[in-house]
Amino acid sequence: MTDLYGLIGFPVSHSMSPAIHNEALQDLQLDAHYHAFKVEEGQLEAAVNGLKAIGIKGFNVTVPYKEAIIPYLDEVEETASAIGAVNTVVHSEGRLIGYNTDGKGFYSSLKPLMTKKPEEAKMLIIGAGGAARAIYFSMATVGCLAIDICNRTPSKAEKLIEECPAKPISKALSLAQAEADLAGYDMIIQTTSIGMHPDTDSVPISLEKAGTDAIVCDIVYNPLKTAFLQQAEQKGCRTLNGAGMLAYQAALAFEYWTGIHPDAEKMKTTVIKKLGGSIC
Ligand code: NAP
Repeated sequence: MTDLYGLIGFPVSHSMSPAIHNEALQDLQLDAHYHAFKVEEGQLEAAVNGLKAIGIKGFNVTVPYKEAIIPYLDEVEETASAIGAVNTVVHSEGRLIGYNTDGKGFYSSLKPLMTKKPEEAKMLIIGAGGAARAIYFSMATVGCLAIDICNRTPSKAEKLIEECPAKPISKALSLAQAEADLAGYDMIIQTTSIGMHPDTDSVPISLEKAGTDAIVCDIVYNPLKTAFLQQAEQKGCRTLNGAGMLAYQAALAFEYWTGIHPDAEKMKTTVIKKLGGSIC
């Protein structure tokens, strides 16, 4: 019988996950299919129980259910529990187990660009939402020396720092404070939704004061080259878009479900092609 995998969220019509996962399932000749399920407000519990009842093997969770799904799972893995958000669920022996692959996916995409070891690196994260939490926890876990967070609502950045079990040197800043003091960071990671289609001209802060040797990353992937990354390129910084994070978090989820490590580079190429970018 064909195995079923999927995605739950609202909306899901724009998601690239079905294309990425179905291509990998086909390439590996697995008798399985991945489908995006739109789950309307108020229907999350019914949807999760329904997917469990029909024997889905695993599924992804996207906005707005990454936190809300937790009470409906049988178990949540330690990192996902600390982050407080689940983006991947494995259905094993009648139990639904939640994981978060966003942070590890991000680190996999960043690692090849890093010229300093994590324990020597200073990072700034812009934003304190779900993606920022996953990235902060992951970079703290790999031993990053210092991670500051700036956010429109600085109290959310403070809360994030307090709640992380690993304790890098960290400050919570306003966007204006961070903008004025950008020079000391080796990596600047933009995790807010600012710059995302259709609001493609906006940036969260100016990069005028960033060092030219900084790595600048924007996890927004639509468009692939945001206004923020364009500014970074103009400064001569090395840049990283969100396609790698998207592909690597998907590859890790695929591995949790099937036990097989898929071709993550091919997944990234699929994302880039679907977003109209070019492969260098
Ligand atoms: P979220 O939990 O809703 O957090 C949104 C963040 O953006 C918060 O820090 C929020 O600040 C900030 N923000 C939103 N509008 C703002 C504005 N007008 N001015 C200043 N700050 C603003 O969202 P999320 O799940 O973290 O996702 C954020 C982005 O990451 C989205 O674009 C998403 O597509 C992208 N993402 C990419 C990947 C990938 O694989 N590449 C994975 C996950 C997410 P406040 O706290 O002040 O509200």
